Amino acid sequence: MISIGDALVSLDVFEKKFICDISKCKGACCVEGDSGAPVTEDENKIIHEIFPKVKALMKPESIERGETKGLSFVDQEEELVTMIHENSGECIFAIQENGISICTIEKLWEAGEITFRKPVSCHLYPIRVKEYPIFTAVNYDEWDICEAGLIKGEAAGLPLYRFLKDALIRRFGEDWYAQLEIAAKDLIDD
Ligand code: SF4
Repeated sequence: MISIGDALVSLDVFEKKFICDISKCKGACCVEGDSGAPVTEDENKIIHEIFPKVKALMKPESIERGETKGLSFVDQEEELVTMIHENSGECIFAIQENGISICTIEKLWEAGEITFRKPVSCHLYPIRVKEYPIFTAVNYDEWDICEAGLIKGEAAGLPLYRFLKDALIRRFGEDWYAQLEIAAKDLIDD
């Protein structure tokens, strides 16, 4: 573990090589799993505000689930997460294009319709950030759906933290990320 500010960053974040390979994984992280994407209270508020726009892109069954069950819920780990479909586990904000699952919120952001890109937890995946009373854990979440990402990253020699530079800056800020780069260099020099 490397300590940066109040965050403890696992060595995997420095050592794993990673680039999402959407052509292989088909955007499985929007669909797989038994919980939704973690959202902060502020993000949850934004999601509710933009829902009237986002639902223009969502699947009818997802709109219905969101309108009847809510856009988010507190899961078994007591975390606030985006709503998912009961049987498939798919996030209600996911749609499929050319066989690939994508995020309707991000699609709207790319079109310049909204300023919120997507929950930072989605932006950061496969890094997971968990806040504890006295520190913040920053870990690589190993999951076989991302295996192609490891292969692509290894081929390109790109460390996970560099692949997720924008998301890490969004979550922790420029100064924190600069310290992460210094820590990475120190690890290589050791
Ligand atoms: S995080 Fe994993 S599942 Fe999601 S797009 Fe990247 S490689 Fe695919």
